[in-house]
Amino acid sequence: MSGNESRVQAIYQITNREATAVSTPEPLDKIWASNVFSLATMEQSLSKAAFKSIKKTIQTGAPLDATTAEIVAAAMKEWALSKGVKFFSHIFYPMTNITAEKHDGFIVTNSDGSAITEFSGSLLIKGEPDGSSFPNGSLRMTNAARGYTAWDPTSPVYIMETDNGSTLMIPSVFMSWTGEALDKKIPLLRSNAAMDKAAKKVLTLMGETEVSTLNSSCGAEQEYFLVDSNFANARPDLLLAGRTLFGAASAKGQEFDDHYFGAIPARVQVFMQDFEDQLYKLGIPAKTHHNEVAPGQFEIAPYYEAANVAADHQQLMMTLMKSTAKKHGFLCLLHEKPFAGINGSGKHVNWSVGNSTQGNLLDPGNTPHDNLNFLLFCGAVIRGVHKFGPLLRAAIASAANDHRLGANEAPPAILSVYLGDQLEKVFKDIQEGKITSSVGGGEMDLGLSQILNFERDPGDRNRTSPFAFTGNRFEFRAVGSSQSVSGPLVAMNTMLADSLSWIAEKLEAELGKGTPQPDAVLVVLKELMELHGNVVFGGDGYSSEWHTEAVEGRGLKNIPTTADALPALKEASVIELFESTGVLSPVELESRFEVYAEQYVLSIEVEAKLVIDMAKTIIYPAAMRYLSELSITSSSMAEMGVELDSSVARKVATESNLMMAGVTKLSEALEQHNFDSTEAHLQHCANELLSLMNEIRSHADTLEAEVADEMWPLPKYQEMLFIK
Ligand code: ADP
Ligand code: MG
Repeated sequence: MSGNESRVQAIYQITNREATAVSTPEPLDKIWASNVFSLATMEQSLSKAAFKSIKKTIQTGAPLDATTAEIVAAAMKEWALSKGVKFFSHIFYPMTNITAEKHDGFIVTNSDGSAITEFSGSLLIKGEPDGSSFPNGSLRMTNAARGYTAWDPTSPVYIMETDNGSTLMIPSVFMSWTGEALDKKIPLLRSNAAMDKAAKKVLTLMGETEVSTLNSSCGAEQEYFLVDSNFANARPDLLLAGRTLFGAASAKGQEFDDHYFGAIPARVQVFMQDFEDQLYKLGIPAKTHHNEVAPGQFEIAPYYEAANVAADHQQLMMTLMKSTAKKHGFLCLLHEKPFAGINGSGKHVNWSVGNSTQGNLLDPGNTPHDNLNFLLFCGAVIRGVHKFGPLLRAAIASAANDHRLGANEAPPAILSVYLGDQLEKVFKDIQEGKITSSVGGGEMDLGLSQILNFERDPGDRNRTSPFAFTGNRFEFRAVGSSQSVSGPLVAMNTMLADSLSWIAEKLEAELGKGTPQPDAVLVVLKELMELHGNVVFGGDGYSSEWHTEAVEGRGLKNIPTTADALPALKEASVIELFESTGVLSPVELESRFEVYAEQYVLSIEVEAKLVIDMAKTIIYPAAMRYLSELSITSSSMAEMGVELDSSVARKVATESNLMMAGVTKLSEALEQHNFDSTEAHLQHCANELLSLMNEIRSHADTLEAEVADEMWPLPKYQEMLFIK
């Protein structure tokens, strides 16, 4: 027995894998949104009055009346039953990054044993799952175990098909018995409303007479890895932690850039086609897919949608990606850093705000007036990122994303704003008072003609910025691949609401003094830039000069770990931000801090336990087997009168001992439980546990390079990344 059977077996299985048949895709118009209870479906099945009423609720958030709910529920049930669906479920979005659901049958039995189906308006509107098993931080009060789910009519109901039957899924909010938000959807809806309110104030001051409801939009680019499931099954770390906790670098990595935009491997193509057909049926507009930088890494980006719908669709995509990958013999890794030394995965969140009357307010327009609106909204974003950079960092903080941020592949853990050359110059000129409203013989020329024909910067021009303007939207690039987009969207919408309120107040005062509108806007923007222009940076975000300049020269914060990032949620300014905008009460915010802190601690502790386990039971035994083989060889050579060079044996023995010494230290560190505060516990994980884990790994990876290949039990990087 050599000890590498499972690895050899995996390679054998993969290289002899039967090609998956490519199923002929059905035409798009036949499958598009076929599993969605869409407006079009409703229009066909509802009375005119009921349709009008539900449409108003969906489009403007108007309250839903009980009669309409009853009619919609009946139509929904008929539609679902006609498609063979027997169950329904409220799907909700707890404070973790995953979704939760509780299935109920439509069936009701009568006393005579016959069965009928039932689905009333009240069943549609409200569900009552047991809330106690979901994280709720400080909201875990005695009577709060009960939680309610309530239908969110602004996100479409759909049918989820699986091999084991189909379920009618009802997107819902999730709240405690006492009405506190326990999920990621409630704050997102509230943040939209706060942004809408503040934006309307600004637009009204700008003289807009008709202003419809504003909404934020989101288009998320999702990166992921696919690893053959035969390899994954032989790696407990991939299965349980979603990343490799050990593994020496492969001789070939991503240096050649030969994977990026290269031909997509055939097996992956079949997976993508299957996955995208499912997305189309669910009305999710998958738009682009391609290889990413690292071998085995890919990206999919759907077309952007209203933030709330996009967030639900994004969650659904992550679920489907994993289940579809499994069907095709892959493990889909959404972890931010599955392989050390290889690019990690992010999720660029493209974000804009707009409405039907003014359009996208982050799109520079064709008249100076449109441009003024644009500059105000863009300025509001600049102020928000400057004032609430640490909040944005906290919104994307996780144990996994920490491995990626600042690692010269992803944006640094310093929040700055990239505007592109042209726009940066406009804002700098405003700051320096160079742009006035009266240039050129009394004609209103704001000197803004330079951005009338705004040339869009290609989104990738500055990949080193965490927060980049890309022509008609901002792109938050530091978001992690496994994260819900809701947290970042809530932070962005809320900081924007705060900045727009600030702008409205200043603008109103300036206009009150009789200053003409264009000049008033410039006065406000000048002040804004003087206070917050420091956050604008167009250079190389990876460079060490920037790190020094940002922190020492500009007073920006560099926050590399979640342990340092999460306490931002407890800062007075952040509590005040969420309270004043009505997005989260102090109690709700505090509970979020606790839940995220707990998740961080749990994920690092699970990894630490896995490191101990794998080092002791997989890696150490392999090293010992190799040593014993070397010693047998050495004795037989000695009998021949030849002395074996003992340097390899010595190295293996030394590294094994050092690794096991690390294991002992890590086990002790894991035993520590009495911390003064949650913050202290976070720091213990970030500093003690992680560095011991890294120390153990470095010895294990050295062993991997020494021990005979045929005795190494874990699939190696080169195999997982390159054998397809
Ligand atoms: P790139 O790859 O250059 O970043 P893409 O054209 O692939 O850009 O777009 C990335 C994402 O941005 C897509 O989901 C796209 O729909 C989305 N997007 C485009 N315009 C907007 C907008 N105005 N608001 C929000 N998202 C947008
Ligand atoms: Mg992009």
